[in-house]
Amino acid sequence: SLAGKTAIVTGSTSGIGLGIATSLAEAGARVVLNGRIARDECEECAERIRKDTGAEVVFIAADMSDPAACHRLIDEAGGCDILVNNAGVQHVAGIPDFPAEKWDQIIAVNLTSAFHTTAAALPVMRERGWGRVINIASAHGLTASPFKSAYVAAKHGLVGLTKVTALETAEEPITCNAICPGYVMTPLVEKQIPDTMEKYGMGREEVIREVILERQPSKQMATVEQMGGTTVFLCSSSAEQITGTTISVDGGWTAL
Ligand code: NAD
Repeated sequence: SLAGKTAIVTGSTSGIGLGIATSLAEAGARVVLNGRIARDECEECAERIRKDTGAEVVFIAADMSDPAACHRLIDEAGGCDILVNNAGVQHVAGIPDFPAEKWDQIIAVNLTSAFHTTAAALPVMRERGWGRVINIASAHGLTASPFKSAYVAAKHGLVGLTKVTALETAEEPITCNAICPGYVMTPLVEKQIPDTMEKYGMGREEVIREVILERQPSKQMATVEQMGGTTVFLCSSSAEQITGTTISVDGGWTAL
């Protein structure tokens, strides 16, 4: 059980982050939800998890593209035993057309935020004598696709940061790993469907099977609950010697 542990999950008001936060609460952790700005939905998310699990859940608004806000999130959380760096954004365009501000935003949210939160969290974990850093990378942290330059670069960078964090904590009761999901049905993926339908002149189901899941041999999306279960496993004693590595949850994508 994760009773007595505080888990901070960045970008956890929707999708995978919300799924992971829910699983950690079910496992007994006190959970800190995070989103870029405070909205009614954020309090609703916290209340829903509280009701469903009986866990203590708080929400802290902090923009993960702002280094000072990353530090403030950890400082205000009231502990940090488990840090899940999940916040992420996507933009799809060829390199010559890729807006420079989108590149900067993706690198800031998907990669640099994890550096700042980890820098703030490690001293807290060291003081408390236990810690888990779990970075939500992607199959795109291990392989590439055209038109996703910033995302692929950020996720490869996050896998690199995962390895360095693991080495710097290797002799301590702290581990750091990356989960590399293939496609998971969340708002991030949902948003890519209409454009893809238009681009290929296909219907929704055809786009999901033939385009989105083209590289996912299982032909099934993974679920946010499976991401939550993998995260809870990485927090368990069975995973004490798992550090500095990636766990793919991608229906065989990276085996291709
Ligand atoms: P999502 O869009 O549903 O959720 C992203 C979360 O990040 C949201 O809660 C959003 O509010 C938050 N966020 C975005 N910008 C932020 C900022 N500046 N500050 C704070 N929070 C911010 O997407 P998702 O699919 O759940 O993605 C979650 C993570 O999983 C991302 O890092 C993504 O790259 C990764 N991932 C997703 C898939 C997939 O198929 N969905 C696959 C591989 C990896």
